[in-house]
Amino acid sequence: MARICILGGGFGGLFTALHLAKLPWRHQPEMLLVDRRDHFLFTPLLYEVLTQEVSCAQIAPPFAPILSRAGIGFRQGEVTSLDLKAKKIVLRGTAGTETIPYDDVVLAVGNEALLDLVPGAREHALPFRTLDDALALNRALANLEASGSEKIRVCIAGAGSSGVELAGKLSDRLGDRGRIRLIDRNAQVLPHSPAVNRRHAERILGDRGIWIDLQTSVVGVDIGGITLEFQGVRESLPADLVLWTVGSRSPSLLQSLSLDLAPTLQSQGEPHLFALGDCAAPFLGYPATAQIAFQQAGYCAYNIWAHHHGHRLLPFTYVPLGEFVSLGVDEAAAAMFNVIGIHGPLAAQVRRWVYLLRMPTLDHQWRVAREWLGSLVDHQVPNRSARKTEPVAVE
Ligand SMILES: Cc1cc2nc3c(=O)[nH]c(=O)nc-3n(C[C@H](O)[C@H](O)[C@H](O)COP(=O)(O)OP(=O)(O)OC[C@H]3O[C@@H](n4cnc5c(N)ncnc54)[C@H](O)[C@@H]3O)c2cc1C
Repeated sequence: MARICILGGGFGGLFTALHLAKLPWRHQPEMLLVDRRDHFLFTPLLYEVLTQEVSCAQIAPPFAPILSRAGIGFRQGEVTSLDLKAKKIVLRGTAGTETIPYDDVVLAVGNEALLDLVPGAREHALPFRTLDDALALNRALANLEASGSEKIRVCIAGAGSSGVELAGKLSDRLGDRGRIRLIDRNAQVLPHSPAVNRRHAERILGDRGIWIDLQTSVVGVDIGGITLEFQGVRESLPADLVLWTVGSRSPSLLQSLSLDLAPTLQSQGEPHLFALGDCAAPFLGYPATAQIAFQQAGYCAYNIWAHHHGHRLLPFTYVPLGEFVSLGVDEAAAAMFNVIGIHGPLAAQVRRWVYLLRMPTLDHQWRVAREWLGSLVDHQVPNRSARKTEPVAVE
């Protein structure tokens, strides 16, 4: 029986596996998904963990039951190398190291946080990409909240969607004690977002008193503060927490490979290799987004099936459906098809329910929907804290 190994169970890998399992195979292959974690992570709702609008179980369901119901195998461990000639992967798991042969392999290992951009960031700044990162931030916030200090000063490096969404949620969580500062080298927040979303975000960030330093670089992070540079002048500011949302790099697994991907997501030199999602983004010229990885998964699965059955492979075509940006509890901006803008509580609800439809499996969607409906009925969604009306200097 042929074996298809899918490396990485994020938006690209997990949905490729689920699509593969539904295709009409002439000879059913064995499918095996490998990930270092034991759970999928619905990253667009990770911010909501900080405001208790979602639970970890809702956004990080374990792989094992999802995959076993679809007839897909799962192995947890770190893929440490990929031998394209011998068609084998080396996996370091809890039970030791093993070599797994494959017939086809799908690379969907995403990318990694880049914390070495400025001195001190790796040691003193917190990244925000994984469930563990969110839980670590939750603990740091809880300690500061319990400290009794009048102000909690948070500096966020990067005013792209991750920085802006964090700022909105933290502003609501910390209320009047929060002193939140967003720092970015660019001349505007959300530089890659549709204008309707940017305009609304600027207004909401201003209403919440979030301090924004544009055309400003973070040049150092230290134990109790951050150093910024604006127009050649450096200034050090105290900070209780520094959050790092800028930069990413290819996983080390890919660094020795040169991916020559065709638009079909198949390697041109190695027809048994397919790649998609964030790790393939630089080779295909797409941005690294969940929306793209999710759409590529359907193509990747179909093309592997077509490759096995001697059919023509289809080039991936991206259909931009729009963008949601969460701006706090019950507050969001949405640009449908990147043009039609809605905002406020309506956008927050539309975002939440559209995301539900992007979660894996009907079973999981149904369980989360029941819990969300239950909390709406019980009024358990936390209310937004009082908003500040004037920007507050973070000092
Ligand atoms: C906080 C946050 C919010 C985001 N919000 C949005 C949003 O609103 N909209 C949007 O479009 N995009 C969003 N993104 C981006 C989105 O999450 C990524 O583009 C998307 O997850 C890419 O999917 P992927 O499958 O390529 O990689 P990932 O989802 O990162 O999955 C990669 C998987 O590979 C595993 N892996 C990696 N290396 C190895 C290895 N060597 N061995 C074993 N396993 C390995 C990882 O554990 C992971 O499960 C957000 C990202 C973050 C961090």
